[in-house]
Amino acid sequence: MRELMKKIVEEGKVLSEHVLKVDRFLNHQVDPQLMKKIGETFANAFRHEGITKVLTLESSGISPALMTAYELGVPLLVARKRKPVTLSEDVYTAKVYSFTKQEETEIFVSQSLLRRQDHVLIIDDFLANGQAALGLTNIVQQSGASVAGIGIVIEKAFQDGGQLLRSRGFRVMSLARIASMRDGKVQFVKEVMY
Ligand code: 5GP
Repeated sequence: MRELMKKIVEEGKVLSEHVLKVDRFLNHQVDPQLMKKIGETFANAFRHEGITKVLTLESSGISPALMTAYELGVPLLVARKRKPVTLSEDVYTAKVYSFTKQEETEIFVSQSLLRRQDHVLIIDDFLANGQAALGLTNIVQQSGASVAGIGIVIEKAFQDGGQLLRSRGFRVMSLARIASMRDGKVQFVKEVMY
């Protein structure tokens, strides 16, 4: 997606060869116009798949996932990283090793909000080693629902996540694929752009 790649180049900050900071438009301050376009792009790609729910992980996945759910006219379900006291009913849980925090966390979704009949589109902001997305697919599978696909805003294609998820048969759509971040410079994978 050209607008996204332009934003990454102009406003993203390469913190290391493995970590990109996008606090100016995605992870801290959020660009609503860009999120709207991201939502439209994911929705257009999955519009005829019979999606009944969009699922993301709090908190950075929420902005692109909400716009996607809005465009598809379906609810957004946000997996929680800490079990709030209000979440007293039965929950599905999965263990996720966090790339940014370098620690294992547990994620939670209320069993009452995910049904066997659901066909779920998973959305997240980044794809690194694929653990967050895999945890979300695990939760969908526990409920008996199906995964329609995984929409990723920024895939770091030099890490293993994309390969891991695709090798398990999931349709992964990434709007920007980064080939490398050497010398503080983002290089994109050369391929067809949305
Ligand atoms: P994975 O589970 O695929 O290893 O990592 C994905 C999760 O880690 C995303 O939900 C995202 O929050 C975070 N993440 C991974 N790589 C980056 C990065 O380069 N920059 C930022 N800001 N977050 C990242």
